[in-house]
Amino acid sequence: MNTQDYIAMEEKYGAHNYHPLDVVIEDAKGIWVTDVDGNKYMDCLAAYSAVNQGHCHPRIVNALKEQADKVTLTSRAFRNSQLPLLYKELSELTGYEMVLPMNSGAEAVETILKAARKWAYKVKGVEDGKAEIIACTNNFAGRTISIVTFSTEEQYKDGFGPFTPGFKIVEYGNAKELEEAITPNTAAFIVEPIQGEGGVVVPPEGYLKEAYEICKKNNVLLIADEIQSGLGRSGKLFAFEYEGVRPDAVTIGKALSGGLYPVSAVLANKEVLGVFNPGDHGSTFGGNPLGAAVAREALKVLIEENLIEKSYELGKYFREQLRNVNSKHVKEIRGKGLFIGVELNKEAGGARRFCEALMGKGILAKETHENVIRFAPPLVITKDEIDWAMERIKDVLLID
Ligand SMILES: *Cc1c(COP(=O)(O)O)cnc(C)c1O
Repeated sequence: MNTQDYIAMEEKYGAHNYHPLDVVIEDAKGIWVTDVDGNKYMDCLAAYSAVNQGHCHPRIVNALKEQADKVTLTSRAFRNSQLPLLYKELSELTGYEMVLPMNSGAEAVETILKAARKWAYKVKGVEDGKAEIIACTNNFAGRTISIVTFSTEEQYKDGFGPFTPGFKIVEYGNAKELEEAITPNTAAFIVEPIQGEGGVVVPPEGYLKEAYEICKKNNVLLIADEIQSGLGRSGKLFAFEYEGVRPDAVTIGKALSGGLYPVSAVLANKEVLGVFNPGDHGSTFGGNPLGAAVAREALKVLIEENLIEKSYELGKYFREQLRNVNSKHVKEIRGKGLFIGVELNKEAGGARRFCEALMGKGILAKETHENVIRFAPPLVITKDEIDWAMERIKDVLLID
């Protein structure tokens, strides 16, 4: 079978809920992927930052294989010998007292929304059924019905109502609007310290700190959704560190497993996650020993290979190089660490054609929000490899 055969089969039998670039990947190592026709590409998306540690990292693959030979799933009806270690290691790494493991990012977000509501009723004293949660314009937090309820992307909601009550929207980057939206019934404010799917949007400096103080003053939980921006992608363990704040809860996922397996989690202190009693919440696969073993190793790789510091330094370099390209199409270059967005002018005709041209030159990147090209390669990329990519990116940004 060649590329066209695979594509035809996928189009025939699969639901069309994605519009992928027409490359059929067969294997991958580090930052490089190879398609079924033998073409090699540099991966500048890193599975939406799930493979921060690089594709098929040998240490993580090994941890997966070793654990797969022992026990993969116990369900939480029984205990297993990997989960307590993941709890302890995550708590020590992040400073949060408690961890609640799930699988996908959306599930982690749903989990903290439930915890925040219960916290509002049991701790803050909000009247039953009245809790409100505030989210931002241009957010992305997953695809469940409650989560798309607070999406401001028309398409994400079109045809999926009725929606979940209890959500309010404020403008991303606008602390004043947040303050005005808060009522005595407000349980939480959920925010991405850097918006990923929204187009790698970095809010104005000081915004998160202000939001943090507003939340503190009003006894509202600040929830940082770091599913994409976290675990080194932004050049810090968490993007909120740039503002020196400490959110009440953090959602993580994606790179938590280095891309081998879906593992997500909520991190918070006892006051928040302590609201859950046995039976309140759960997941058959959440906290399974295979996922826990993979996540433990993925975190070790992140730290021991200094990937967070590398992301910080190389991200700065990458953006500098991008700024040196004088392209009439580029409106703005932004980001932190190796989390980079290149916003194109309206007249550029959309980012998709640039991504297709990049693919022709051996670079896989994906447009986000029509006009943004996101560059977010695995954090194991080297300076020489960035130089290799820049030559090609430059050619593509200079097309007509
Ligand atoms: C990807 C993402 C999610 C959802 O994660 P899934 O694993 O796709 O459910 C939630 N929040 C943010 C910020 C994300 O980037």
